[in-house]
Amino acid sequence: MATDIKLDESQVIVEAHGLEITGPDLEIDAAERRAGAGGTNRRALVHGPGDALVVNWGQDYTGGVYLNGLVRALNDVTVPAMAWPSQIRANGRIEPLGVTPTQVETVAVGAEITRLRGEMAVLREHVELLRMQASIRADASHYTQDGWRWCCRCAGLVYGTNVTRSVCPAPGGGPHDTSQSGEYVLFPHKSRYAGQSGWGWCNKCQGLCHGSAVLSGHCPAGSAHDRTDSPNYLIWAAENPQGSSAAKDFPAQDNWRWCSRCYGLLHSGGGVCPAPGGGPHTNQSWNYHLQTK
Ligand SMILES: [Zn+2]
Ligand SMILES: [Zn+2]
Ligand SMILES: [Zn+2]
Repeated sequence: MATDIKLDESQVIVEAHGLEITGPDLEIDAAERRAGAGGTNRRALVHGPGDALVVNWGQDYTGGVYLNGLVRALNDVTVPAMAWPSQIRANGRIEPLGVTPTQVETVAVGAEITRLRGEMAVLREHVELLRMQASIRADASHYTQDGWRWCCRCAGLVYGTNVTRSVCPAPGGGPHDTSQSGEYVLFPHKSRYAGQSGWGWCNKCQGLCHGSAVLSGHCPAGSAHDRTDSPNYLIWAAENPQGSSAAKDFPAQDNWRWCSRCYGLLHSGGGVCPAPGGGPHTNQSWNYHLQTK
């Protein structure tokens, strides 16, 4: 195309397919927009060393750079690492006094977000465990913990407070469905009713299960149940020779059964078993009673 330069009243119009500057700097400097700031140059775009395009070279524009509209970075983005130079501890809380960006280190944002997601997952597990432990109410002869619920999909007993992170063995997977259940109260560590000990909370599927370190059944979240950090629950059963008849003084629901395939506690029978082969749970166990709320 033909090129032309036109001198309008207030503008210079360059008619061309492209505009090429063979030097490194493009400056835009409107004196009235400087807001009193000094400095010789206002380098908007610079062809920098290392063949980089630099916006606001030398931070000439003291007000910084604004990007309006949705910003799309098509490749990885690096940002300055933040340093927290000082912290104050007051009333048990730690508060940062200030955040100072250092110019030394850059962090690949994609990798950093992945790392943070990993740390958040670990924190979430800690919170889940703390919630589980903090919900135990203790008195002299008796510890109780409410929040346990029945899953209408797999028939298992689940710690409902953590249900969003639970894993159900029913077809389709996802968390257990405790929406159809009332609340059950378990006896962790101590029960005046002499229940059977050795029951534990699985931190992977959130279900209640009974077994040993070696024999830990099958978890719907994969491999065996993991009862690390679980309280030792005492579950009362009619056939337990060590059981106390005093158990009858709490409102209870019976017909809870231990499944000899997955080692979970489930109500009556049926449901969906996470053991290889699937199908319903087995229910040929003692008749366990759970306290209702
Ligand atoms: Zn379930
Ligand atoms: Zn499990
Ligand atoms: Zn089962």
